[in-house]
Amino acid sequence: MAIYNPASSKAEEFINHEEILETLEYADQNKTNEALIDSLIEKAKLRKGLTHREASVLLACQIPEKNEEIYALAEQIKKDFYGNRIVMFAPLYLSNYCVNGCVYCPYHAKNKHIPRKKLTQEEIRQEVIALQDMGHKRLALETGEDPINNPIEYVLESIKTIYSIKHKNGAIRRVNVNIAATTVENYRKLKEAGIGTYILFQETYHKESYEKLHPTGPKHNYAYHTEAMDRAMQGGIDDVGIGVLFGLELYRYEFAGLLMHAEHLEAVFGVGPHTISVPRIRRADDIDPDVFDNGIDDDTFAKLVACIRIAVPYTGMIISTRESQKCRERVLHLGVSQISGGSRTSVGGYVEPEEEDSSQFEVSDTRTLDEVVKWLMELGYIPSFCTACYREGRTGDRFMSLCKSGQIQNCCHPNALMTLKEYLEDYARPETKAVGDALILKEIENIPKEKVRQIVIERLEKIANGERDFRF
Ligand code: SF4
Ligand code: SF4
Repeated sequence: MAIYNPASSKAEEFINHEEILETLEYADQNKTNEALIDSLIEKAKLRKGLTHREASVLLACQIPEKNEEIYALAEQIKKDFYGNRIVMFAPLYLSNYCVNGCVYCPYHAKNKHIPRKKLTQEEIRQEVIALQDMGHKRLALETGEDPINNPIEYVLESIKTIYSIKHKNGAIRRVNVNIAATTVENYRKLKEAGIGTYILFQETYHKESYEKLHPTGPKHNYAYHTEAMDRAMQGGIDDVGIGVLFGLELYRYEFAGLLMHAEHLEAVFGVGPHTISVPRIRRADDIDPDVFDNGIDDDTFAKLVACIRIAVPYTGMIISTRESQKCRERVLHLGVSQISGGSRTSVGGYVEPEEEDSSQFEVSDTRTLDEVVKWLMELGYIPSFCTACYREGRTGDRFMSLCKSGQIQNCCHPNALMTLKEYLEDYARPETKAVGDALILKEIENIPKEKVRQIVIERLEKIANGERDFRF
């Protein structure tokens, strides 16, 4: 039997099944233990996070008043660390060829009727121009796993193409990459190609379920997949994004696993994950979400987001257009710091109208980016197209130490205002621009340092006069 050890390099030791089972039992035994729950809430208020065991108790907590306190604390931590900024991004699907057999994804190799497509470099150019014309600056690349159709060279060439395209005032300034688990050598190549975050979802931390859900293909190997972030970090990538697909296994199991994964990366590399994504399983071509019986309702989902926010305050949290407008609105308060907008989840979907049956999942929030931007601003959020940290080399532990010192706030807020201004000048509809310009005027006042405020005012004027790409 594997022994739990967060600093181990072996998947079954740092994501230890017995430790998770004990954690769940402990959480269950203490779900109405008011004294313990109070002490954990007090500890969480120190904003230094909680362990997987501690956070699991809060997730299991069944005292309504305490749950209200948990929500309020999550909201407060969200405000303190992320202010009212929401970072925007879009996925870009390069290829849906895939040799794996993931039973929850329509791109699985046995699906013979879904149209397969791999973008040429010229098609990538067209997609990127379409994304730039929407106003996007930050992309997440997605491909299936297929060594023949989507080798690493193809991904590297595509990244180069994406960074090279400058259409009108557009530019993709940060390319995050979500490709299958690979070798240290390939991660090194991705790092050299200038990627932002390397994202890989665990899907489920439960090994037995994992193997059943991934019956064929290289992804079947649980250890190779679970240890991917270690190899990515060995390859020099210091911003990694983790996540699970909620609905495949018991959400409380996954929650403990996610936090153990974060603790592992912190223990071995001194820096936890840059982001955590919280996708829930959705309908797609030959996928019926109802056959997975661990689906979670919106209330549970909100609790989950709140508890992640409290447990890892420095980790960005991402939500996609899988979720409806209503659900996204709720979890934005509780901890989500990055959202996608105007997404297409099929290969070539930004240029060609989406063929429903070739999407990886059904999009629930189908609004345009501009509609999402306006909606966010009307809710009092600042949509941010900032990519400054990556471009200033503030990644990995440099980024985390800046976060932990609280100084990052002095960069994020002005950068959000300046990148929003660029968006409003170049891409917004007049009604969106009007809302945005008023918001910026109001938010300038919230820049605490007089000197920074003056610089921002000058730069905003320069942006209105056609200059671009300022950052702190
Ligand atoms: S989830 Fe990824 S690896 Fe699995 S079938 Fe879909 S594209 Fe392939
Ligand atoms: S300054 Fe850094 S942390 Fe802040 S929004 Fe920009 S990229 Fe993100």
